[in-house]
Amino acid sequence: MKAEIIAVGTELLLGQIVNTNARYLSRELAAIGIDVYFQTVVGDNLNRLSDAIRIAQGRADVILFSGGIGPTQDDLTKDAIAAVLNRKLHIDRMAMDKIESFFRDRNVDMTENNRRQAIVIEGGTPLANETGLAAGNAISDNGKHYVVMPGPPKELIPMFEQEVKPWLFQHVLTEEMPIYSKMLKFAGIGESALEDRLLDLIDTQTDPTIAPYASEGEVTVRVSTKAPSESEAMLKLDAMEVQIRERLPEHLYANEDVPIEYTIVTMMSDMGLTLSAAESCTGGLVMQSLTSVPGSASMLKGGIVCYSNEIKEKLLHVPHSYLEGEDAPGAVSPEVAKVLAEQIRMIGDADFGLSVTGVAGPGYSERKPPGLVFIALAQRGKETEIHELRINGNRETVRIRSAKAILYRLWR
Ligand code: ATP
Ligand code: MG
Repeated sequence: MKAEIIAVGTELLLGQIVNTNARYLSRELAAIGIDVYFQTVVGDNLNRLSDAIRIAQGRADVILFSGGIGPTQDDLTKDAIAAVLNRKLHIDRMAMDKIESFFRDRNVDMTENNRRQAIVIEGGTPLANETGLAAGNAISDNGKHYVVMPGPPKELIPMFEQEVKPWLFQHVLTEEMPIYSKMLKFAGIGESALEDRLLDLIDTQTDPTIAPYASEGEVTVRVSTKAPSESEAMLKLDAMEVQIRERLPEHLYANEDVPIEYTIVTMMSDMGLTLSAAESCTGGLVMQSLTSVPGSASMLKGGIVCYSNEIKEKLLHVPHSYLEGEDAPGAVSPEVAKVLAEQIRMIGDADFGLSVTGVAGPGYSERKPPGLVFIALAQRGKETEIHELRINGNRETVRIRSAKAILYRLWR
């Protein structure tokens, strides 16, 4: 099953917006076993859009459109498809009711062009738009399938999930074997380093397929296969998991789609272990992520956001000479990270004490560059571990990655 994505919008061609819809759709389609062979971008122009549709008809079975279904005259996607398929357009009653009541509820006069958003192609299935007004549309014609979705990602994503996927399963994927996936989660390694370690598998393996993608501080690998039954799929997926785990045993923390804090809370609660944290530049992010996991109460002692030197000194007993003076290592230093982790552990008599101190940026602090972070892990009866991080990115990235990094060290 070959697919093409046509993203419609002059803003895309001008480089004013990034084509995130194509990335999203490609990923989601791969996951349900539809191979995307082409991604096209075309401006809001009826002739060029019609040309793009004709080209796609020659090389794809499923054509998915993003954008160009709003109220204005430059929203032409449905017009172009109708013209190429030689079909009429008509107003969908349900979509129209929704638009009319939207304006009525707000006591705003509806302009005539808003009716355009309720237009669908004759013979097609209207697709409900949960988060916007413009109706989507799906239609099969002459053995080809066409799916029209709105441009704004907050409309396109829910429509794809709730309307398009079921339609594809019903009309396009009927002959295909179902696809099964397993999510493997990694921490303490970046996406490209991870791909490097899996390169031989990614290059040679066509079944199951392996697709890594990164989020801040974590990498997810989706392993997917088609099989007639779940048990047969699981055999293949489990075998692949073993091969991946062999290559990255120290980074693979879960074989389901959960954040690392979830794994930590589960493990520590099971083992009856407890933890406290002292956070400077993360401002409580470590605590925030751990407390977001249900059941964390039994393993979390508590934490302190020790942003200023005063709090570091008075509450966590960091020696004054570490913080101020000519030769002081300063608040962002391995020495301070160590004291913070050890002190916070002792205050609550926890099994583990975590600390984070660093320069979140954007500017320098203590003449140290943004992204320089020290994390420490104190453990009852053991030597305290200290790690230096150099994180590239803005303030938010530095904060999130620092929090993930200390959680990763704890998990190990
Ligand atoms: P509207 O009702 O807002 O006009 P539309 O379905 O006609 O929606 P467009 O006019 O093409 O869609 O785009 C509306 C907005 O959606 C764009 O300004 C942009 O913010 C976002 N958008 C459009 N296409 C994409 C895309 N391919 N990737 C990410 N965002 C997009
Ligand atoms: Mg528009």
